[in-house]
Amino acid sequence: MPDTTLMVVVPRSGSIDPEKAISAKLDWISAELERMNAVKAILGDDKVMFGGSYLSIAFEKSGNEILIPDFTKGRLVVRATDISRRREMIRRWFIKESSAYVVRKVSEFAPIAGASPSGVDVREIAKWGYCTRTGRLSFSWQLIALPDRLKEYVVWHELTHLHVFDHSAAFRKALSKVCPDFKQREHELDLILPYKLPVS
Ligand SMILES: [Zn+2]
Repeated sequence: MPDTTLMVVVPRSGSIDPEKAISAKLDWISAELERMNAVKAILGDDKVMFGGSYLSIAFEKSGNEILIPDFTKGRLVVRATDISRRREMIRRWFIKESSAYVVRKVSEFAPIAGASPSGVDVREIAKWGYCTRTGRLSFSWQLIALPDRLKEYVVWHELTHLHVFDHSAAFRKALSKVCPDFKQREHELDLILPYKLPVS
């Protein structure tokens, strides 16, 4: 759960009535609270997001390391010698699945966007995706966790950068041609919290 403590700082002089200040900002406060409560983390202690839905993580101690997703039961069985292996196993699974997804989706979408990237890969990056000046597209290893419509948005966004490198009005115009509701999808994407890898 995010920290939803509301802190109000007023000058000592007493020139501002805290109650009045709060009521004047009430719409903003409730909207912000709603947003914070809507934020979903990709990886929690006992659950992981995959394709926009959560799978509960069931750990089983075993000498043979294996990860078995069971989508009908909404769970992910992780067999390993130690529970601390869980994150690393999920990370490898995500990289494999995200890589297969971006290769497939970029080849499907690129002709529609009239774009031809020089290469596509998945990396451990903090952003959902980026595009180099040489036309190479890189995507986050956590992409596979997102719902389809958001994964697709990220692919459309990076493909559009092959036409317009910045985020100017021309970029948004080009993006809206292939993804008309991109603003809504950006808003939904803002509510998803990627797992931050520990800095090593
Ligand atoms: Zn961009």
